[in-house]
Amino acid sequence: MLKTSQGTPVLVRRDRRARQIKLYITAKHEVKLTLPWYVPLSAGKAIIKAKEMWLAEALAKTPKILSAPEIKNHKIAALGRLSALAGEYARKYGVVFKNIRIGDQATRWGSCSRRGTLSFNWRLILTPENIRRYVVIHEICHLREMNHSSRFWRLVAEECPEYQECRKWLRKNKENLT
Ligand SMILES: [Zn+2]
Repeated sequence: MLKTSQGTPVLVRRDRRARQIKLYITAKHEVKLTLPWYVPLSAGKAIIKAKEMWLAEALAKTPKILSAPEIKNHKIAALGRLSALAGEYARKYGVVFKNIRIGDQATRWGSCSRRGTLSFNWRLILTPENIRRYVVIHEICHLREMNHSSRFWRLVAEECPEYQECRKWLRKNKENLT
């Protein structure tokens, strides 16, 4: 197995039909090098060396696609952490919620039903802690104000004075939801 000088493994594949050397990143975040049958491995190594800077940058930019077991672990962790936070803020705001659901909603980070069910996107476990707290506070406050009135936002601000920055962060990172 080849490696870059930073230790990133490179999977080498020989392809009889390939016409050129191809270096790319797969959806699983692996680096692959495809070589036509007639190209020596040393040429592949030279390409890796020449493209190392590009590779490091491209790897940092490519979102990692998580495997099913990884997602399952994140969901378990999300349920634990978000339940703890919801409990903490329900006490602070003097409200009761019925239950917590960890979901896969493609368009939202959290929601609150009139019956008192809080739903949170499991991807919140991948966000910074202050963002997670804001989303929990937001949904908990809906148990007192089922709207987005100025009264609602004043309530949110009691426990999360920096809520506007959090909202900005969430808007900016919306695409990471899916
Ligand atoms: Zn809301």
